[in-house]
Amino acid sequence: MGPPGAGKGTQARRLVQHLGIAHLSTGDILRQAVREQTDAGRMAQRYMAGGQLVPSTIVVEMVDERLNQPDCAAGILLDGFPRSLGQAQALDGILARRGTALDAVLELQVSDAEVTRRLTLRGREDDRDRVIARRLESYQGEMRPLLDYYHARGLVETIDGSGSEDQVFDRIQAALERRGGAEERKRAW
Ligand code: AMP
Repeated sequence: MGPPGAGKGTQARRLVQHLGIAHLSTGDILRQAVREQTDAGRMAQRYMAGGQLVPSTIVVEMVDERLNQPDCAAGILLDGFPRSLGQAQALDGILARRGTALDAVLELQVSDAEVTRRLTLRGREDDRDRVIARRLESYQGEMRPLLDYYHARGLVETIDGSGSEDQVFDRIQAALERRGGAEERKRAW
């Protein structure tokens, strides 16, 4: 988890490569479904176009299906999911049925000032200060209950997201190592 501009995508790609696990991004899965114009894709389309969350029933089913693919057997990194308490509870059910559970929840922490600076550097048209502030606010509103939920179970590893990509990646690795190595996680799955 991390606000827009926290470097989540970059770190996710590095981590899955490093651990040899599958990258499960619900944003990517949804965009593919829209491109392919599947039933779910057509339903999801208008929510995504309006910048709203896609109904959880659609997203949860996609995640469950994706987990059947063989590359998930080595482990998964969830990216962009869960986005609500309902989705977190559905995820618990999905994982329990498969006899597994989350190892950790990684929270990339970057100050609002730094995120605003990074998003402004990207120079996207929609990234004016006001829009950035609104995106950060909606992120906080979305994530706070989820973080509370996972904090209560001692799953959250808060990572300082400032500094270089390498520095952040080193911190992520160190946090995961404190929780037991990747090999153990593979065996557990
Ligand atoms: P992302 O690439 O993670 O920013 O997701 C792009 C869009 O896909 C979001 O704005 C939502 O409309 C939708 N989306 C992605 N993940 C979820 C999710 N877990 N629950 C609901 N909608 C999602």
